[in-house]
Amino acid sequence: MNDIKVAEILARYGLSTTKSLGQNFLKDSAVLQSIADAAEGDYILEIGAGIGSLTNLLCQKAKKAVTIEIDRSLEPLLSAQVAEENHRFIWQDVLKCDLQTLAREEFGGKCTVVGNLPYYITTEILLLLLKNIDCWDQAILMVQQEVAERLLAQSGKEYRAASVWMQGLCDGEILFDVPPHCFHPAPHVRSAVVRLKPKTEHPDPKGFIAFAQAAFAARRKMFASSAAVQGLLYTDKAGLCALLEQAGLPQNARAETFSPQEFALLFQLAQNLKDKF
Ligand code: SAM
Repeated sequence: MNDIKVAEILARYGLSTTKSLGQNFLKDSAVLQSIADAAEGDYILEIGAGIGSLTNLLCQKAKKAVTIEIDRSLEPLLSAQVAEENHRFIWQDVLKCDLQTLAREEFGGKCTVVGNLPYYITTEILLLLLKNIDCWDQAILMVQQEVAERLLAQSGKEYRAASVWMQGLCDGEILFDVPPHCFHPAPHVRSAVVRLKPKTEHPDPKGFIAFAQAAFAARRKMFASSAAVQGLLYTDKAGLCALLEQAGLPQNARAETFSPQEFALLFQLAQNLKDKF
């Protein structure tokens, strides 16, 4: 497959890429096709249009596709490059988007989220998706390779709060790696495409994300002594020890030794207690 001539297409419209918007556009046709192939479902929400290369492939397989793009200077190019009837652009900052309303009004329900993400806001986008987890049933996302590894780490130095909130809420896998030369311009980092699927049974996202972040603020200290977790759960050290006992976990354990599933269990037990009183 031939590469997309990104620089040439941009130049035709007097445009160039904007680094501050994370504009590393995919030019490798095989990678673009693999992302589109991975995206299942009739309703697709794309984050970030670029020059529309992925958008066009998504339109071919979806009943309806919607793309959120912040950079309005791309509009003349994109209205010429993407002219599918089952597609529309929303010119907006994705972080200001009301996903609940969008999913309901555009798709009448859940959608598949697809994006070669702007890396400068990867975490913010992931958190937005997780806080609106009932709006989508699958996400196919290009992220930095080291971010992908961190999101799916189960232990070790890559294991962070992000690993816990992601795996407590979703099943995830790395589909394939993407080297820098597949983009224009080439980023300084390697990339990877991940598939995320919300777990059928998962904790309340907002509370669970705050819980994981609080627990990891003092990852090397005893979990039961964490003032941040005590504050969040309105309890004290004895309360957290009781919780650990109920979960079958050692009372002197450090937060970083718990798996995402154990975090989810601890959070659920704390919620059950709260609901009881
Ligand atoms: N999908 C295209 C591709 O694969 O070539 C473009 C990917 S490029 C890495 C990221 C895209 O996200 C750019 O088009 C950029 O303008 C857009 N973008 C950056 N920040 C955004 C934001 N806050 N909201 C919506 N789109 C944004």
